Amino acid sequence: MKGKITISKELCKGCTFCVTACPKKILRLSKEFNSSGYFPAIVDNMELCTGCAMCAEMCPEIAIEVWREQ
Ligand code: SF4
Ligand code: SF4
Repeated sequence: MKGKITISKELCKGCTFCVTACPKKILRLSKEFNSSGYFPAIVDNMELCTGCAMCAEMCPEIAIEVWREQ
């Protein structure tokens, strides 16, 4: 299954919960901060995303949206 996510740069507080939760280890924190001064999570290899949504489930800021291709 293939998946795709979007992360809201401005909602993200850089807590790294999603980075830790992703079984594919495709998330990391950006080196550029957002307007609140947090380093937001970004995706490195979207083609490896399965759409499992573990990242979104862990996010306390509801900053991640997930899509799945059947
Ligand atoms: S949906 Fe799953 S595989 Fe895709 S980024 Fe989130 S935790 Fe990783
Ligand atoms: S879990 Fe949410 S708030 Fe935390 S780093 Fe990931 S996207 Fe940002």
